[in-house]
Amino acid sequence: MASCEPSGYDVVGIGFGPSNLSLAIALQELGATGATPPTARFFESQPSFGWHRNMLLPTAKMQVSFLKDLVTFRNPTSPYSFVSFLHAVERLPQFVNNSDFFPTRAEFHQYLEWVAANFADQVSYGTRVTAVTPLRSSGPAGPVDRFRIQVSSPATGESSVEARNVVLATGLAPRMPQDFVRDERVWHSSEFLEKFRRCDAAKLTDIVVVGAGQSAAEIARHCYDNAPNATVTAVIPSYGYSIADNTPFANRIFDPNAVDDYYFAEERAKEKFWQYHRNTNYSVVDDEVIRSLYQRQYDDEVRGAERLHFAELSRVTDVKRSGDDTRVTIHSLATDRSYDMDVDIVVCATGYEAMDIAGVLGELDGYCARDEQGRHRLERDYRLVTTDDVSAGIYLQGGTEHTHGLSSSLLSNMATRSGEIVRSLSRNRLPEAVSC
Ligand code: NAP
Repeated sequence: MASCEPSGYDVVGIGFGPSNLSLAIALQELGATGATPPTARFFESQPSFGWHRNMLLPTAKMQVSFLKDLVTFRNPTSPYSFVSFLHAVERLPQFVNNSDFFPTRAEFHQYLEWVAANFADQVSYGTRVTAVTPLRSSGPAGPVDRFRIQVSSPATGESSVEARNVVLATGLAPRMPQDFVRDERVWHSSEFLEKFRRCDAAKLTDIVVVGAGQSAAEIARHCYDNAPNATVTAVIPSYGYSIADNTPFANRIFDPNAVDDYYFAEERAKEKFWQYHRNTNYSVVDDEVIRSLYQRQYDDEVRGAERLHFAELSRVTDVKRSGDDTRVTIHSLATDRSYDMDVDIVVCATGYEAMDIAGVLGELDGYCARDEQGRHRLERDYRLVTTDDVSAGIYLQGGTEHTHGLSSSLLSNMATRSGEIVRSLSRNRLPEAVSC
């Protein structure tokens, strides 16, 4: 951090992935309208910008259109669009010639890094927020009108800043089945590439990939292609992978307007949203990946050397580790029997939990309202509902599926959401911006 810091910021962003990067742009672009943008600072625990780096498999493609980038749905003329990036790196004609709305994840990551580089002076990387505490500027009887954000970094040690608002965007947390402990043999998909690269892939003979979502299918394909002597067993709870519905009417669930439809809907309608449309995102796989896996298995069958197996209607129920040995217990729902497999590697592509809001907020969580099911209550502008004595704002980017619907943890609505949060933030600023 620079030695001369303002005494407080209008907003501190906790986490600097795509969501808060999109917010940083929206704040800056508010300045272009003649308004003074809220002052902002961001803290990110990773040493540099990164977005699901361990799932940047070479063949993996984006599941959303390149037009659902950091800005376009909010401001199609922004200099931080994917198209602007392509223009800057002199790849626009080549991209267009390819007639494909879905770039690779690797290319989209290049785009995100390109944008993030423009905001480096607002971000402290390698810095973890350790506590957010309420402050009352006008004494103990006054409202909580600021927060103190304590941060810790190996490079600069412990320090703190104050802010009128915080925006939490700390991302999803890996979900392991039955709380399996992760180690050098038992991985979650979120650490896949890093750990796979550490292996001698040619020596792997048995790999189990758990799950029937996009991560599992991509990883099963990657293992099959890059561990040439390994048998890959995909343990899937369904009978076969189900397709991710990205047909046009279903895709409307991700439109900015759908957030209103969900937010203001009756509870029963919300349940129907999930019942009918969960298959646009969870436990589903893109058509192309399904077909390519099927083709590999079929080709093996023709050759008489099968290397890709499917344990259908099955779940992994236990993993036992001892030295280099790894034993997986698989329960077949079809036979209601369990059996063991000795393997080299188990990859649990078993999804994610929502952002841990209470963990980040600490004592501040006690000021936040919850619904009958114990979930945090939110305003339409993504601000947590707090007790009446809190005038400072806590906003969420993520962890809002129960209030704002399916697109909450996805890129689809990010640009619009950032604009909505910035509009709200600009109405709740520090009394005076004190700068050095
Ligand atoms: P996911 O869709 O939540 O899938 C998790 C899978 O694990 C489910 O099929 C789940 O089955 C299964 N599972 C959980 N516990 C299990 C057990 N003990 N045994 C067997 N299976 C078990 O997670 P994901 O695939 O990581 O996808 C998460 C998000 O990332 C999605 O939005 C996806 O689109 C996105 N993603 C995108 C890309 C890309 O852009 N190319 C790549 C990867 C992921 P049950 O539901 O039956 O529990």
